[in-house]
Amino acid sequence: MQWTKQFRQAIGVLEQIESYGYEAYFVGGCVRDLLLRRHIGDIDIATSARPDVIREIFSKVIPVGLEHGTVIVRYEHHSYEVTTFRVDDEYTDQRHPDSVQFVTTIDQDLKRRDFTINALAMDKTGVIIDLFNGQEDIQKGIIRTVGNGYDRFKEDPLRIMRALRFSSQLGFSLNKHTLKAMQSVINELKSIAVERILQETAKFFAGAYIETGMNYFKVINVEQHLPVFKDNPAIMKRLPQPIKPLQSFGAVIAMLHFVEPAISIDTWAKKWKCSNRIKFEAESFIKALYYYERSGLDPWLVYGLHTTGYSDFVLLVNVLFDNRLSKQIVNKMAHSLPIHSSQALEINGTDLRLLFPDKRPGPWIGDTLKQIEKQVVTGHLNNNKNALKEWVKWNPHATD
Ligand code: ATP
Ligand code: MG
Repeated sequence: MQWTKQFRQAIGVLEQIESYGYEAYFVGGCVRDLLLRRHIGDIDIATSARPDVIREIFSKVIPVGLEHGTVIVRYEHHSYEVTTFRVDDEYTDQRHPDSVQFVTTIDQDLKRRDFTINALAMDKTGVIIDLFNGQEDIQKGIIRTVGNGYDRFKEDPLRIMRALRFSSQLGFSLNKHTLKAMQSVINELKSIAVERILQETAKFFAGAYIETGMNYFKVINVEQHLPVFKDNPAIMKRLPQPIKPLQSFGAVIAMLHFVEPAISIDTWAKKWKCSNRIKFEAESFIKALYYYERSGLDPWLVYGLHTTGYSDFVLLVNVLFDNRLSKQIVNKMAHSLPIHSSQALEINGTDLRLLFPDKRPGPWIGDTLKQIEKQVVTGHLNNNKNALKEWVKWNPHATD
């Protein structure tokens, strides 16, 4: 086993639990990603110890999901999700398991997991427990349910979206029985809370192999079961081709609104129950896209973009305008900006009021500062207090 630093740091957690006479394993996505040599997100640990025992073993434990048997353990400055071996009881409402039942063996715990590639556990010596040939499926690049697909998707239809997002993230194929089961249960997606669907859909659109995922998306017509898409079937034909992975869901909404302006960002955000942050991102991407369409790339546009949004913006421009904008150009322009936020301006509202003591405070202050900000960012004015004051004096209409 080719251990990574992340895993080496975490071995101590397993050892500590074992020293109290309990079992503990690395489990799920982290084992899968280690075998695939992919970047590892979180390291999850499954254990025979109950949450209250874990709280006694470690000094820093955050009880995040006690009802699911999950706690977060802080260990040598890193966090680990530690979950007691469990099975899910009946999913009578198809949304949440009615209750969880703790069990004593890792085997039972692995059996409740969705896909063979996610049903792997690894002990502290690197020995892998693989009851469903998950390693072979990883090698062949196949997504297959643990057990009967029909039953597993019925039990939790969100797994349909999860299968799609794993194919988009990993570029894997769907086993043919698994695909068939997805098709026959797809109507049940409506019973799933939109917040859960959003999480998987966002990961789907960010997948490095989105084209693979999108093929399956279309094969099972999942759009007929997703908010907004289902009422606007034409959107699917307007999606850019080829489609590219977008890291933020705000960028996805911006793309969807751009190709179908009749559906507002507000509608997307409401129907998908997006956070304000996602909605705000979508709005700023759209503003930037329209600006780019009108004026091309310039410092004012780059200034308005959030640093974390550069990649998505470049991708959006390239897929929507068939351009070849490069991220390096955006980075370079960002580096040479004279300021990076309005806080860096050498003049503020108080300065303006002192310059015009007879004027009543009002919106003119903010409006004037905005104009000054633009002059500075675009290189027409030096960010120097005296220069800025002079400019305001000589451009009194700016304060109208
Ligand atoms: P990521 O790297 O995106 O976090 P992951 O495989 O860790 O991928 P999670 O959603 O974090 O995915 O879930 C962790 C593990 O829990 C999965 O690998 C799987 O074993 C199990 N799991 C999660 N959701 C379900 C579900 N709906 N049904 C069955 N098992 C699930
Ligand atoms: Mg995970």
